[in-house]
Amino acid sequence: MNLIDMTVRDLLAALAEGSVTSAQITDACLKRIAATDGEIHAFVSTADASAALAAAERIDARRQKGGPLGPLAGLPVAIKDNLCTTDFATTCSSKMLESFRPPYDATCVRHLRAADTILLGKTNMDEFAMGSSTENSAFAITRNPHDLSRVPGGTSGGSAAAVAAKMVPFAIGSDTGGSVRQPAAFCGVVGMKPTYGRISRYGLIAYASSFDQVGILARSVDDTALVLQQIAGHDPLDSTSLNAPVPDYVAAVKAAGDAKDGPLRIGLPREYFAEGLSDEVRRPIESLIAALKAEGHTVGETSLPHTEFALPAYYILTCAEASSNLARYDGVKYGYRAQGPFTGIIDMMMRSRTEGFGKEVQRRILLGTYVLSAGYFDAYYRRASKVRRLVANDFTKAFTEFDCLLHPITPTPAFKIGEKKDDPITMYLSDIYSVIANLAGLPAISLPCGWSSDKLPIGVQLIGPALSEGRLLAAASRVEQTISRSGLWKQR
Ligand code: GLN
Repeated sequence: MNLIDMTVRDLLAALAEGSVTSAQITDACLKRIAATDGEIHAFVSTADASAALAAAERIDARRQKGGPLGPLAGLPVAIKDNLCTTDFATTCSSKMLESFRPPYDATCVRHLRAADTILLGKTNMDEFAMGSSTENSAFAITRNPHDLSRVPGGTSGGSAAAVAAKMVPFAIGSDTGGSVRQPAAFCGVVGMKPTYGRISRYGLIAYASSFDQVGILARSVDDTALVLQQIAGHDPLDSTSLNAPVPDYVAAVKAAGDAKDGPLRIGLPREYFAEGLSDEVRRPIESLIAALKAEGHTVGETSLPHTEFALPAYYILTCAEASSNLARYDGVKYGYRAQGPFTGIIDMMMRSRTEGFGKEVQRRILLGTYVLSAGYFDAYYRRASKVRRLVANDFTKAFTEFDCLLHPITPTPAFKIGEKKDDPITMYLSDIYSVIANLAGLPAISLPCGWSSDKLPIGVQLIGPALSEGRLLAAASRVEQTISRSGLWKQR
């Protein structure tokens, strides 16, 4: 088998038995990037090839000597460009941070280095993680590897495209309202956003701090568990990180579907199968539901009655948080500064922010500042916060009856580049199925479950209760097996 087709699990096994070296894997990935990224534009910056190979050789030498090795030793990885890295600029795909070289690594990056992975580069994204298509990058438009005329989704579009195009076996993204799961669905890979606070946000450049969560893009549920195992956990540097033990996710996936496991109890929230869902997405998901029932799982209808308020509440709250988080980019301390002369400090800040931020970021800062302004706070922010609580309560109720909920992650397959770019409302509406998991802070995973008639990947989402990653991954692994047994999805 070609090295670039292999899963994290298979690569680790091949490395352990000595049938392949990290230098060979790294070389294969570097060659793949060189051959395909000129067209796909998944990366904003890439590692120096000889330095990456030298790092791989050092790990191979350590392995030969029987020295201590990290759990993901020798595997290449790509990281979204809103996670701080000392050896790469960290731009958030914004002109504002084009030359920002962080003095520290994000905690999850530190964990990945400690696991002995090899960082092959930083991936493209929508500027400051605002968007759904990766078209809002100040640098390049990432293309969907399955159809170059289409978007890869966003905002972790670069990470999803890099995994789908086989440039890396796995990648890291971030998910504030679907940014890992939606591009995973559009690109035909697995994408997971854990519980809010499960992975440290230290070194993740903030968009909406009460929503942002680091996530994983990989080729299988098992690979996702292998990576999550390394980066989950409490971090004193992030006051919102959860101080809860990290269970053995890998073992949970391995044991999934054992004889001792009863059938899964899967809830289908009726609001997510209603108007607006394209038949292209509905068809494979209905086939999956039929296959799950045929295998003896309990699949029943449930309801998340506050769904209709979720999207407006999401955009009010995240814009409010963004307007406050992005106030720090003022041209004074770091980030872009416009060319002088200036008439005064206000002129300097105004021109720096006008030139440094793209249109979508400016729109959200304006919206956020408006909803937080005196006189409007109660009407917008406070009401949206109440909706957030009601959405969370809906889930609590649904989980009394079901282990997890299953529904589409996107209303349509990947859309054409340029199709929604100038119509922000239509773009926001494409997030309709993904934002609720972030409003409620719950873990969610997107799995490829079929193909559209245009041969575009379709994803399905599973959501579980807070901190249920082990059980959710195990359930996802069983659903993944059903998808593969029933022939609904095969990598092309
Ligand atoms: N599309 C959503 C937004 O623009 C989600 C983005 C994200 O998860 N970072 O807010």
